[in-house]
Amino acid sequence: MNNNPVVEEDVQPYRGRFAPSPTGPLHAGSLTSALASFLDARSLKGIWRLRIDDIDPPRAAKGSVEAIRSALISHGLIWDEPVLYQSWASECYERALRQLSEKGWLFRCICTRTHLTARGTCGQACADQNISSDLPHSLRVKVDRRRLTGFEDRFLGMQTAARADVSEDFIVKRRDGLYAYQLAAAVDDAQPHFTHIVRGADLLTSTHRQRWLQDLLALVSPSYGHVPLVFDRQGHKLSKQTGAPALNVHAPEDNLRASLNHLDQVTPPTTARTVAEILEHAIAHW
Ligand code: GLU
Repeated sequence: MNNNPVVEEDVQPYRGRFAPSPTGPLHAGSLTSALASFLDARSLKGIWRLRIDDIDPPRAAKGSVEAIRSALISHGLIWDEPVLYQSWASECYERALRQLSEKGWLFRCICTRTHLTARGTCGQACADQNISSDLPHSLRVKVDRRRLTGFEDRFLGMQTAARADVSEDFIVKRRDGLYAYQLAAAVDDAQPHFTHIVRGADLLTSTHRQRWLQDLLALVSPSYGHVPLVFDRQGHKLSKQTGAPALNVHAPEDNLRASLNHLDQVTPPTTARTVAEILEHAIAHW
């Protein structure tokens, strides 16, 4: 991959991660994201961790953590250090919310789906109403769009906030009391936890939001690189929610070759037969 900034000696050693939500088994799309972040970390002699984003119990699928772990292992994507679970980090998210609130960036929002704007933002000016905490509400963070700086994506180049069309507010704690993905990812992905985030291009807008939260929380953002999504025949992004088929874990070599092809990588020679040989070639050519 054509990646500009390489780890320099005076900066932190590379720390990357794959962070699936436990909503189902791995499919070709999530394998591709996992593989990209793994190859990036390994080719830069970095640490690569597995983090399970289990902050949304209603969407969790029974057995999926084990299915994800064993699929990664059968594809040779072996992580370093113990597995992380976002459900262990509630205190950190609560602290972040307190900080945002003290700085005046949060507001209670009572909008239900029918009140929201087409962009999904608060439709009733809840920020100006001092909503009582007794009412069912979500917490939203305000976005000062003039202050969004954009960022240099390692694979896609400069990403301006204007292009991503980031909205003027978004949810950080849901009405049902669960922490929003944007908040949890912003806190957990910041340095020193991670230095490099490599993930699917569907998360580009999320990256602007997460960088905004990191900025408000005075956290140091990692560098970001987004890789192309895998689509099905109908042109839909493969995802667990839309029932993407699980990987055939009995054909890891074929799956890895398909993902490498999708990532536009040099095809490993036919002499590379095992998972380890394919990965070795892929790391050397990333
Ligand atoms: N856990 C989320 C997902 O599976 C986010 C992944 C990420 O931030 O890399 O889509």
